[in-house]
Amino acid sequence: MPQQAVAVEDLKYYKFAGVEDAVQPRILIAPYFYMEETTWDHWLPLNLEFVEMAKQLAPNQNVFMQVVISKDILLDKDLLLHVSESIKGSAADGVFLWIDNFDEQEAGLTLLSNYIQLLFNIGKCKQIFNLYGSYFSIALMKTRPELNLAGVCHGLEYGESRPVVPVGGGLPMSKFYYPALHARIRYEDAVRLARPYLESKELYLGHVCKCDKCRDLMNNIVSPEEAFAKFGEGKPITFQRRNQIVTFHYPTEEAHDHCVRHYMWNKYREFNEDIREAGEIAGQLEGAARKFEEILGATGVNYLLKWAKVLRKKVG
Ligand SMILES: [Zn+2]
Repeated sequence: MPQQAVAVEDLKYYKFAGVEDAVQPRILIAPYFYMEETTWDHWLPLNLEFVEMAKQLAPNQNVFMQVVISKDILLDKDLLLHVSESIKGSAADGVFLWIDNFDEQEAGLTLLSNYIQLLFNIGKCKQIFNLYGSYFSIALMKTRPELNLAGVCHGLEYGESRPVVPVGGGLPMSKFYYPALHARIRYEDAVRLARPYLESKELYLGHVCKCDKCRDLMNNIVSPEEAFAKFGEGKPITFQRRNQIVTFHYPTEEAHDHCVRHYMWNKYREFNEDIREAGEIAGQLEGAARKFEEILGATGVNYLLKWAKVLRKKVG
């Protein structure tokens, strides 16, 4: 029996669940160090050695290399090539990628293109999972098989990017994942975008979102405006901050739950949508940018145009 099940306190659970052979990890991750522009030469050889050692210790297991790098490594073409060649030549069966604080919405064209270049280089030999990615990575996964991007991860409503050194969470805000924008935006902005479609349930479901959560709200609340308002419900909370009394519109538990479920269904759709043409996705993103620019401003929709441009470009 595997090691995990030997612990006496666990045995009853396996017995209860009728599990004869307890869960085995599908993938082992070799120990790793975070690599920056100024430290990579210390850590890269060690990281590669750890993969070798893990492979020797567990020759029959899938051993993945976790590659945690700073964005500046992506901005130095020679370094990017050197690091990706080393990873390609490693003993790893695959790669988990974490680029420090790499927000695909905020990244410039160069960074986005170099990210694709990194995937392309490593992907020639190894399967890659991006541990913190947004719709941009999902689009790459679906339309660029040559990149070998096998998976994209994130949490529910968070974790589409993540800094290596954690920062404070800040105050929770009501945010609505606007499907056509593939982004969470302030509830107030979402209302402005959705307003023309709140005249009827059909308009809303046809033009804003028809996920299970939205269908449920629209079908059970007579007024579409009231139904949509469920995403933005909050209660005022007053507290003192730096000698000031601040009143803050804190999302209710119910509103938060609606937002999370709506986000989840939208991600489910994004992952499962049968689109394999980068040009088709780029066209949709450009269409959304044109449609919403008037309300969100050029800066607010700029990332859609950047994504579209990079998706249309051939790499490698
Ligand atoms: Zn929805």
